[in-house]
Amino acid sequence: MDKNARIFVAGHRGLVGSALVRALHARGCNRLILRTREELDLRDEGAVSAFYAEARPDYVFDAAARAGGILAHRRYPADFLLDNLRIQNNLIRGAVAAGVRKYLFIGSAAAYPHDARQPLREDSLMTGPPESSHESYAIAKIAGIRLCQAFRRQAGWCSVVLMPTNLYGPRDGFGDEDGHVLPTLMRRFHDARIGGGSRVTVWGSGSPRREFLHVDDFADAALFLMDGYDGADIVNVGVGEDVSIAELAGLLREVVGFEGDINFDRSKPDGAPRRLLDVSRLHSLGWRHRRTLEEGLRETYRWFTTRPDA
Ligand code: GDP
Repeated sequence: MDKNARIFVAGHRGLVGSALVRALHARGCNRLILRTREELDLRDEGAVSAFYAEARPDYVFDAAARAGGILAHRRYPADFLLDNLRIQNNLIRGAVAAGVRKYLFIGSAAAYPHDARQPLREDSLMTGPPESSHESYAIAKIAGIRLCQAFRRQAGWCSVVLMPTNLYGPRDGFGDEDGHVLPTLMRRFHDARIGGGSRVTVWGSGSPRREFLHVDDFADAALFLMDGYDGADIVNVGVGEDVSIAELAGLLREVVGFEGDINFDRSKPDGAPRRLLDVSRLHSLGWRHRRTLEEGLRETYRWFTTRPDA
């Protein structure tokens, strides 16, 4: 991608999209094409086709998806399935029709089978059903991955499919009780410290294990692979190490400076017992993450406490 390329970042106000915009700007790419939800409803096929005809991007980073935590998936399974299918179908089909040179699709570690061997290898995709707690999201992501690969076979179309682990960082859903574990807990510890609370509740048993990657590291990997990877195979993007939710909570407690107790609410769901990516393909392509989890949490907490609406 040269600096003058016209690059469309779909979903630029979200966690991933905003990190992609920061990374592209840092590299001097100034011809970014961005549309807010109000300007372009990605679920609307006609609107997306008209947008492509007018904007004519050379490259597309597709970071637009309906996402959320474990409870949101449980409450809105139909919305997760339908919105994500619509968004990705419109974006991918439209990009092929508009002659986009290269497309980056973001899959999800949640798409892997719930009983696949850990760490999750790319070739375990579609060898079994995904975890039931976010089945709709997983099925939509699998359909998106397969659509990119099908257009490659059918029309020689060039796309890169990344499978990120749990991402976190600036612009995550901090205020949202239905959000992912890391921003939700960061906010809960913060509120408890500020409000003088004596204990913070963490859902589940604390024993599930998850892998977390700072979104700016993810964006760096995305640009690296958009430049240098042309394969049809999906690529896991993670750090290759996991922590238990109890360990994550302990780290967050320290980073936030909360001195009270942690209470585990076992009436809340644990979800998958473990989710860790095998990142050997990514490492062999020449990319590794930079930040440790603690550095990433400190950086994110600094952003959280100094953000404009704080
Ligand atoms: P998942 O990684 O797709 O399962 O999604 P989440 O980010 O929602 O949850 C990850 C893990 O964190 C699960 O084991 C939850 O039980 C646990 N967890 C602990 N406290 C919270 C919380 O306040 N919110 C969420 N969403 N998860 C929590």
